[in-house]
Amino acid sequence: MSSELPRTASTVIVGGGIVGAATAFFLGDRGERGVLLLERDRLGAGTTKGGMGGIRHQFVDEIDVRMSLLATAFWREFSSFTGSAWRVEERGYLFLATTPAGLATLREPLPLYERLGLDVRMLDRADVEELVPGIRTDDLAGARFGSQDGYGDALGALAGFAASAVLEGVRVVEGVTATELLRRGDRVAGVRTEQGDVSAERVLLATGCWTAELAATAGVEVPIRPFPRSIAESMPTPALATIPMVIEHESGFHFRPVDGAQHFAMPDLTAEAVTERAAWRHPRLAGLRVARIRTCQYELTPDDHPVLGAAPGLERLYLAAGFSGHGFMHAPATAQLIVEEMLDGKATTLDISDLSLERFRTGRRPFAGTVL
Ligand SMILES: Cc1cc2nc3c(=O)[nH]c(=O)nc-3n(C[C@H](O)[C@H](O)[C@H](O)COP(=O)(O)OP(=O)(O)OC[C@H]3O[C@@H](n4cnc5c(N)ncnc54)[C@H](O)[C@@H]3O)c2cc1C
Repeated sequence: MSSELPRTASTVIVGGGIVGAATAFFLGDRGERGVLLLERDRLGAGTTKGGMGGIRHQFVDEIDVRMSLLATAFWREFSSFTGSAWRVEERGYLFLATTPAGLATLREPLPLYERLGLDVRMLDRADVEELVPGIRTDDLAGARFGSQDGYGDALGALAGFAASAVLEGVRVVEGVTATELLRRGDRVAGVRTEQGDVSAERVLLATGCWTAELAATAGVEVPIRPFPRSIAESMPTPALATIPMVIEHESGFHFRPVDGAQHFAMPDLTAEAVTERAAWRHPRLAGLRVARIRTCQYELTPDDHPVLGAAPGLERLYLAAGFSGHGFMHAPATAQLIVEEMLDGKATTLDISDLSLERFRTGRRPFAGTVL
């Protein structure tokens, strides 16, 4: 890390969350020199510090599944790619349905999963009990399980990306805010900061739920808004330390183990709602004590999908933001693809044209959309 701000850069990445750090790593890995990663606070201090760390392939839109497949291939080899000890815990995602309608919804994307070669299967109550011993199943209509899903520590991954990027020559500067985008005609020319201007050949906004404001300084309208979401952390529950991510489809209540404790999320989370729902779902969670509640911001777009790619109307400005609750899991794929856009002129590993900001200008709606 550095506190000195350079005056010129080849690429300025604004935002030191998981997306900015992963992109810095991929740029460094491609041999790009003169890259600056600018973070106004500390690395990870935005939404990245507040997530569940879930990694899933069970989406309904094909692009999301493909992003997960690309990302998981990287997550599995994270240590050998970055040199940092970090690992994904591939324990699966277990979706529970309590109604026939819910079960039918869980079944719908199975042909997509089969076509893309995912190990996702429907389960009955006995299968569920086998995966999570002691869990309440008498209210279940059925379940769906994806074995390639799992979870990992987002801040640990960010640290690995950032450390490796620095070794590749990326300059990381914390505590400096980009206040304005600089433009020269129809191209971006750099960023203005509280500590002076930095001229750059290209700029990437990896600024999460704060992207709209900064993009607007260059006349680019980006519909991303913050939306508060909370996680409750329990006291240790050692008996459930290796279970999958468990998600109630109808209520949205979900939980997963973290270092022997459980982390819970649900819409409109309160300590009372969590303890009540947890006790209902698993007798071992009865009498649960919530140790801490953390609130952070989702970065929502109108269709729950990110804005990824070159910004239409302003050359050399790129956007990677608005991941709507799944930006951690997709970060390596996002970074690889946006680096292809920046250095090669177009992402080639996957077609990400549907994720362009352009869709909000034309009113096109390519996604079914899902927020967990
Ligand atoms: C409760 C909760 C649960 C979640 N669960 C999951 C999950 O299970 N799986 C998953 O994949 N995702 C999950 N997410 C979402 C995930 O955490 C985010 O999608 C991801 O962290 C977004 O990363 P980012 O780098 O885009 O944004 P951020 O982490 O927000 O990083 C953006 C950074 O930009 C900086 N910044 C902003 N403006 C400026 C500026 N003008 N100048 C300089 N710096 C600036 C900010 O300080 C911030 O550090 C969850 C989120 C929440 C809140």
